Amino acid sequence: MNIPFIDLKAQQQQIAPQIDRAIKKVLDHGKYIMGPEIFEFEQDLEKFCNVKYAITCSSGTDALLMILMAKNITYGDCVFVPNFTFTATPEVIALLGATPIFVDVDAESFNIDIESLEQAIETAKIKKLNPKAIIAVDLFGQPANYQRLKQFAAQHDLWILADAAQSFGATLHHQKVGQMGLATATSFFPAKPLGCYGDGGAILTDDEELAECVRSIRIHGKGSHKYDNIRIGLNARMDTIQAAILIEKLKIFPCELIARQKVASFYENALTTIVKTPRLIEGATSSWAQYTIKIPSNFERHNIINDLKAQGIPTMVYYQKPLHLQTAYKNFPTAFGARLSVSETLCNQVLSLPMCPYLSNKTVGMITETLHQIIEKQKAIAK
Ligand SMILES: *Cc1c(COP(=O)(O)O)cnc(C)c1O
Repeated sequence: MNIPFIDLKAQQQQIAPQIDRAIKKVLDHGKYIMGPEIFEFEQDLEKFCNVKYAITCSSGTDALLMILMAKNITYGDCVFVPNFTFTATPEVIALLGATPIFVDVDAESFNIDIESLEQAIETAKIKKLNPKAIIAVDLFGQPANYQRLKQFAAQHDLWILADAAQSFGATLHHQKVGQMGLATATSFFPAKPLGCYGDGGAILTDDEELAECVRSIRIHGKGSHKYDNIRIGLNARMDTIQAAILIEKLKIFPCELIARQKVASFYENALTTIVKTPRLIEGATSSWAQYTIKIPSNFERHNIINDLKAQGIPTMVYYQKPLHLQTAYKNFPTAFGARLSVSETLCNQVLSLPMCPYLSNKTVGMITETLHQIIEKQKAIAK
């Protein structure tokens, strides 16, 4: 067996002629920057997510950054972030001179924990920082608990930025990801649920003023035209070629979501008796960017990883270290009075299995069968 962790080849083969045609069209018209495919894909995104404004950009990280820039996040402000996420989430806050305050996550959903958020408000008071926003991360493809987050945000006069880099296509109570916060940032990095063939991202919002501002920031803070500079901005455009590719990939994306759910259900049925399988909150669907199990603490995770690897089954540990313990972030504050112990424990337990829409039942069967055998072997050794 030699299974890829994410099989991007299989998908590319599926739609090769359409992709070739789409790329050729861009080469023919030659509008490599802000060509017609950019605006076409933005309309497709608005329709798919049922939002008023979709603004494409260079990456998920820049999407997060531009939303914070548009909201004037700066020195003296603080933004609450989960500490069990990818570095991009707190990075953009620190980059603007503001302070990320790290918040623990829920052990079942892996998403930001409301009790820990309460404690983080205390931290902001003690540090004399101005609490401005919460960045909720939809980890591994599952939306955060936006109903509770919205209540909390309203009580504390905060706005919500949804980091949906991993959850494009997921829903919560029939609402599409993209509609959850004041604004949503998503990523089209190749390994994300909807990926392009390079870097890419988008901002989704119903807020007209924010949308206008982000469109300006994306092109060097332009006013009525590119050489009219009305604010400090970035060069953060998506390439036309990537938009052309994404137009084609979005067409097959609904089918891929169904296929991902099938793989997840297969894993769930086969593994629920031997490991902790992922739990979704009520009303949520996941886009299954990752299928992440928890290995019970009486087993040696690194042995399981090595045994799987020896059988040709790749796995990943997302994430090995909580952010508040990373060198870059260790001097930033954490939620008051807590050790963020849930995220610390999760880092020692989680294991992400191969996941993509093109995994056959046969392959998933082999993966789960092998995992069963490895766990049985470890049990025998433990005895
Ligand atoms: C991937 C990711 C990002 C950043 O997206 P890029 O397109 O790689 O910049 C941000 N947040 C989370 C949670 C991610 O997984």
